[in-house]
Amino acid sequence: MSSPLSLVWFRRDLRLHDHAALATALAGEGTVQPVFVFDTEILARFRNPADRRLSFIMRTLVNLHRALAQRGGGLLVLHGNPRDVLPKLAAVLKAQAIYSAEDFEPATRARDAAVKAQYNGRFVQVVDHLLKAPYEVLKDDKTPLKVFTPYYKRWRAALHETDYAEYVVKDRDRYADFATVQAAARNAGLDVIDLDQPVEAALTCIGYEYFDDPIWQPAQAEALLRDFVAEKVTDYPTQRDFMGSPGTSRLGPYLRHGLISIRECLRAASDAPNSATWIKELCWREFYAMIMYHWPEVVDHEFQPHYRGTLPWTRDEAVRRVMEEATTGYPIVDAALRELTSTGWMHNRARMIVASFFTKHLLMDWRVGEEYFAQHLMDYELASNNGGWQWSASTGTDAQPYFRVFNPVLQSRKFDPVGSYIRHYLPELAALSDKEVHWPHDSLLCPTGYPKPIVDHQAARARAINVFKEAALKQLL
Ligand SMILES: Cc1cc2nc3c(=O)[nH]c(=O)nc-3n(C[C@H](O)[C@H](O)[C@H](O)COP(=O)(O)OP(=O)(O)OC[C@H]3O[C@@H](n4cnc5c(N)ncnc54)[C@H](O)[C@@H]3O)c2cc1C
Repeated sequence: MSSPLSLVWFRRDLRLHDHAALATALAGEGTVQPVFVFDTEILARFRNPADRRLSFIMRTLVNLHRALAQRGGGLLVLHGNPRDVLPKLAAVLKAQAIYSAEDFEPATRARDAAVKAQYNGRFVQVVDHLLKAPYEVLKDDKTPLKVFTPYYKRWRAALHETDYAEYVVKDRDRYADFATVQAAARNAGLDVIDLDQPVEAALTCIGYEYFDDPIWQPAQAEALLRDFVAEKVTDYPTQRDFMGSPGTSRLGPYLRHGLISIRECLRAASDAPNSATWIKELCWREFYAMIMYHWPEVVDHEFQPHYRGTLPWTRDEAVRRVMEEATTGYPIVDAALRELTSTGWMHNRARMIVASFFTKHLLMDWRVGEEYFAQHLMDYELASNNGGWQWSASTGTDAQPYFRVFNPVLQSRKFDPVGSYIRHYLPELAALSDKEVHWPHDSLLCPTGYPKPIVDHQAARARAINVFKEAALKQLL
């Protein structure tokens, strides 16, 4: 390779527009080679051989590769541990720099540090995934905030147009010769995944099967954002909690994998009327990333120290099976669990109801629920999922007070008033009236196969409040 070459390591920024790492690399000298690594340590956590997320990612990579080919380049996809394969690739190609977007999760920070340590060139990281990095919004004394509202106020005040200005990608004639790069990588013994073959075959190369997903389409991201901002963002404050009608953006999976950038979301929303509530929700994502960055122990432990080791959580297999089989006997909870397994997504209100039910009514360890969601959610994001579960379990920062135990039937009546969500995911209850569908057990039309309620709400509520009180007392003694 004659002119200097830089690698751009694509991770959760799977797009070619408004791309901080790519734009920054292109602003430098020489040619650029985009790379993606199917990290074998991460893949080990994907237990479903036909995981819809891997098909989604592979389809996205193929699209990127084709788009890059039209611009004179290509996407190099490797399979292996980035700690080994990236420094090796960089050495083979004599890359002067590796550019990537900063990742704020504890494990990925450690991985990036290891790659940097193994590599002799410049390792450049830029902020892309968030509008404000976790170390940017702090209290006056430079310590991090623990509560959302003051964080949000500071975040909002600190947010300037420059934070969400587009990173323009000027890539004309700037990519390395892809055939040469790919051949060099192969000759060095790296496991290169060929994106010119069918997606199914590419997935086989990493040990997975294709999942033909009718719901989540990589090409949809831009249109979803456009339509949401044009048609729904104004009513978001009043509609977002209703599970039976699509009042939220459903952009989570696209944001998670970076098919759209957080900056374009903010640009689009800033131009729309009444978008403050939605922007505030985007801030929750930044808040939980910030919490995990400053308190990495929350990955495995309760954020509130007085709840560490003091609550009688159960990790009983039978309880987890109830979650898997959606057989709580509470229609709103069972419908939500079916939504998750059949679509790879769950409405936010439903996530709150499910997480509350399992952690409070059944005292299931929030880590079990967190892990279960991690296996299924298309938008699975460690910090947000952990934050959501700990919020519901009352162990997190800013959490739901322990004495607030959602009544699933009241939640159901309020946020699925005509039962359309329940009927959609539990068609066996479709014949019940709008009133009965939330609690079918007293109706003659209740199908015999529908499970009896696993717990009595009042008794479970009293037990939950009691164990939390006792845990707080233990701390005082
Ligand atoms: C138990 C539990 C687990 C959760 N797990 C995840 C997860 O793994 N990944 C994830 O992105 N969100 C998670 N959330 C937050 C929220 O449920 C989803 O972000 C939201 O449902 C995604 O739908 P949407 O794209 O239509 O969101 P919208 O309502 O349109 O919001 C837009 C975006 O803002 C962000 N956002 C909104 N609400 C939250 C929130 N409370 N916390 C963090 N970010 C938020 C998301 O990126 C979302 O896509 C969880 C919430 C709970 C209660």
